[in-house]
Amino acid sequence: MPGTILPEGWLEAKKISRHFGGIMALTQVSFRLEPGGITSLIGPNGAGKTTLINAITGLYPADAGHIYFQGEDITRLAAHNIAGRGIGRTFQLEELFGSLSVLENVMVGCHVRSRAGMLSCGLALPAARREEQQEREIARANLQRVGLEHKAGDPISRLPLGERKLVGVARALSMNPRFLMLDEPVGGLAAHEIGKLVELIYKLRDEGLTIFIVEHNMPFVMSLSEKVLVLDGGTLIAEGLPEEIQRNEAVIKAYLGEEVAVG
Ligand code: ATP
Repeated sequence: MPGTILPEGWLEAKKISRHFGGIMALTQVSFRLEPGGITSLIGPNGAGKTTLINAITGLYPADAGHIYFQGEDITRLAAHNIAGRGIGRTFQLEELFGSLSVLENVMVGCHVRSRAGMLSCGLALPAARREEQQEREIARANLQRVGLEHKAGDPISRLPLGERKLVGVARALSMNPRFLMLDEPVGGLAAHEIGKLVELIYKLRDEGLTIFIVEHNMPFVMSLSEKVLVLDGGTLIAEGLPEEIQRNEAVIKAYLGEEVAVG
């Protein structure tokens, strides 16, 4: 189209805004990511971090602005179509199904990409049965990727928090993402669990996934990230290398009064 300015980044947000009633959760947020590597998004409570993930994944689309992924405008696509383009996520409070096994919980991620879907699985059509078998294999492979294949048959409710979070990652991996967003993966984890998560994130990065982390744990963010974005009050106030962010005055000011020190 004449006059159209094409996006330049692999993932690009252009002036995206989102309000909830009178609250402006995001105001004209723009940034650009290139494929590969680990980027983190930080910001005080209520800064708009989860709203940004929700806008990218189509759960709560942006009110204004555009999000491009690999040159395509995905702003108004349905969430399952965005997932189908290769954008996966975990949730802050991972909504796992307590009555299902670990493997079945991971299989839920496969359904997002499945053609026959849950309805035909319920009807036990031959194609659906074949598909279910495939989903089972994909889910098992992803449990292996996060180191939990030995827990496949356990009820999810029996797993400690650290392992439940890894199941959430395996579920997101079952959507076969190229871009993986982790929403507060460290919250509530013990030091040894964080260590396992760090190893997994590096492994996934080395496999070629582009990782995007929303997290409050500053030592974790600063040691792992190649790039850091900072939101405050719905506005992007800084982006740069971890060492630049740690001495950025606007960032330090945004965190004054917060328990977490930047760095
Ligand atoms: P935290 O670090 O505490 O998780 P956050 O940076 O992820 O916070 P958001 O959850 O994105 O912040 O919230 C940004 C603002 O938008 C907050 O004022 C929040 O109350 C509001 N908000 C987010 N989601 C909704 C919603 N579904 N309905 C109403 N207000 C919402």
